Amino acid sequence: MSSDCTFCKISQHELPADIVYEDDDLIAFNDIGPQAPTHVLIIPKIHVPSVNELTEDNCDLVSKLVLRAKAIAAERGLAEPGYRLVMNCNAEGGQTVFHIHLHLLGGRQLKGMG
Ligand code: 5GP
Ligand code: ZN
Repeated sequence: MSSDCTFCKISQHELPADIVYEDDDLIAFNDIGPQAPTHVLIIPKIHVPSVNELTEDNCDLVSKLVLRAKAIAAERGLAEPGYRLVMNCNAEGGQTVFHIHLHLLGGRQLKGMG
């Protein structure tokens, strides 16, 4: 837990969010500024700032994020039409919240990466 981290506060229920899934390891909630009909953020409950801080010891959390994104996508009928998973890293990667998170985007035709 990082005391000044918005996503830590959401994972601890100290800040409100539109939560779509939660278990002991992770929490998923709707993005506050959705870029697609489905735009869910899946985050670990432990504070890891970015992909740059992943190690052999904590990288299992990424599999959990991806598998949960897959499950949420399937529940919403997005498995066959498809969806996008995005993890931004640091400023030039477009990261604005420094608590690692996976974006699940779907429900419309997504354009190329820019
Ligand atoms: P990033 O740009 O770091 O990859 O993605 C951060 C995402 O978090 C953005 O899409 C932004 O809209 C979303 N976001 C930022 N603050 C909040 C918040 O307080 N609540 C929710 N639900 N989403 C947030
Ligand atoms: Zn955090």
